[in-house]
Amino acid sequence: MPEPEIQPPSSKTSSRPVIGRRHRGTRSSAEDRSKPKTSPPRQGASLIGATSVSEIDSAMLDLLRRCIAMPSISGDEQPLVKLVADQASRWGFDVDLFQTDEARLAGYPAALGRHLPLSGRPTAVIALKGRAPGKTVLFNAHSDVVAVGGENRWLHGPWSGATIDGRMYGRGACDAKGPLVAGLGAMLKIRQLRGHDFAGMVALELIPGEEDCVDLGTLTSVVRGYRADAAIILEPTEGLPRCAARSGLRFEISVHGRAVHGTVKWLGIDAVRGLRYVLGALDEMESQFSQIERDGRYTDYPVLRPITVDKISGGGWQGMICDKALCAGYFELCPEDDLDTWQERFISELTDRLVAQGYPGDGIDVQFPERYRGFFTPTDASVCRAAEKMIRYSSAAERWKKWRGFNSGCEGGLRFALHRTQTLVWGPGSLEQAHRIDEFVPVQEVVDCSGAMAAAVLAYLDSEGT
Ligand SMILES: [Zn+2]
Repeated sequence: MPEPEIQPPSSKTSSRPVIGRRHRGTRSSAEDRSKPKTSPPRQGASLIGATSVSEIDSAMLDLLRRCIAMPSISGDEQPLVKLVADQASRWGFDVDLFQTDEARLAGYPAALGRHLPLSGRPTAVIALKGRAPGKTVLFNAHSDVVAVGGENRWLHGPWSGATIDGRMYGRGACDAKGPLVAGLGAMLKIRQLRGHDFAGMVALELIPGEEDCVDLGTLTSVVRGYRADAAIILEPTEGLPRCAARSGLRFEISVHGRAVHGTVKWLGIDAVRGLRYVLGALDEMESQFSQIERDGRYTDYPVLRPITVDKISGGGWQGMICDKALCAGYFELCPEDDLDTWQERFISELTDRLVAQGYPGDGIDVQFPERYRGFFTPTDASVCRAAEKMIRYSSAAERWKKWRGFNSGCEGGLRFALHRTQTLVWGPGSLEQAHRIDEFVPVQEVVDCSGAMAAAVLAYLDSEGT
C-alpha cells in the first residue's frame, strides 16, 4: 500500500499554518479573555494553531496505525524499530540503528537488573541537525508494549489500530506508540517550519525494554555516546508536560514454611498463610507510606507511594501444608526518595508485621531485582519555561494548572542521574488507558501534542544558556 510521503528537508519556511486544532483567529471571545495578553513567538505560534489536519498529521497517524499493527511485546521489538527507522530514513532524517550486547554495558547498575536478553533488540536514534552548533534535545520513546491479556476480550483488535469516534485503539496506542509518533511528528513540524535553520540538534531515541527493565534501553544509547542537554520522555501525560517521575523498586518476596500433611497442620508452618500476612502487610504499608513526607508534585494522586502486587504463586502437593509461596510487584516512590533507605524500610516494616502475626521473622526473603531512579527538573529550568510558555498557547491550555510529576516510573532517571539532563515527560493519551484492554489514544491529542512539543523544543533551542 502506498504511504503518504513527507517532502525531504527544505530550508524554506512554509507559508501556511502548520499544526493543531484551530487557528488562533478562530478563538471564541471567552477563550481570548483566558489567554495571556502577550503574543507567543511568531514561529512557535504557527506550530500551535492551524485550521485542519495537515499532511504531516495524516502521515503521523498512518505511521501510528502501522506501529500498532506490530505486536512489539517486550523481547520482540525489532520489527517495529526497523519500521520506524525505515520511515524516518525515507523522511530524510539521519538514522543510527544499532544493536548492543550486555558486555558493552558492564559497569552500569542499570545493566545488572533482571532483564530479557538484549540480543535481537535494536535501538534507533533518529536525528535532525540544525546548521549552527547549539543544544541537543532528545526525545525518548520505548518500542515495547505489554502483553494484550486475552485477545478475544478486546472489542477492537489489539493490533488493529481501529479509529472510532476520534480514538485509535490497540496495544501501545498510548503507551507509548502515540507519544512516539507525536515526538517524530514534532521533528517533522520543526523541519517544515525551519528546515535546518536552527542551532543544535533534535533527536529521538527509540529504545527497547522499558516494560521489562527500566533504564536498560536508554543505557544502550548512553553507551553509544548520545548526550542531551534536555530530554523529553514520550509517555502518556494527557498532552501536558510533567517535570518529575517516580523512582521504583521491583520486589520479590519468598515466604518459607515447613511442609506437613494437612491433617497434622499444627506441626508445620504454612507458607500460604504467611503469604496472606504478607499481602495484608503490604496494604497497610501502602497506606502508611502514603501519609508521610508528601511530595508536592504528587499531592493530586490518591496513592502517594503505590505498592502493587502483580504476581503470586505457591502451593505444593494437594492436601499439604506447603513450604513455599511467592509474590512480586512494584513499590513506586517519589522522585527524591532514597532507594537504599526505602528498601531497608520495606524489609523491616514487612518483617515486623509478620512477626506480630506469629510468623517466624526469618520466614521471608525479599529481593529487589530491578531499581530505577526518578528525576525532578526545577520548574525554572529553561526546558520547563519553554514548555510552560508553549502549553499556554496550545489547545491543552485550559487543562494546564500547575507543574505535576508523572505518576509512574519512566526512562528519565538515568540521564538525569548521569548528566543532570533537564528532563520532561510528555505525550498524548492517559496512564488510565495504559496496559488496559481496549487501550486507546485520542487522535487529536497526538496531533496537538506534537505541535506543542515542536514549539517548546524550538523555544528551548532558541533560548540563551542551557
Ligand atoms: Zn510506557
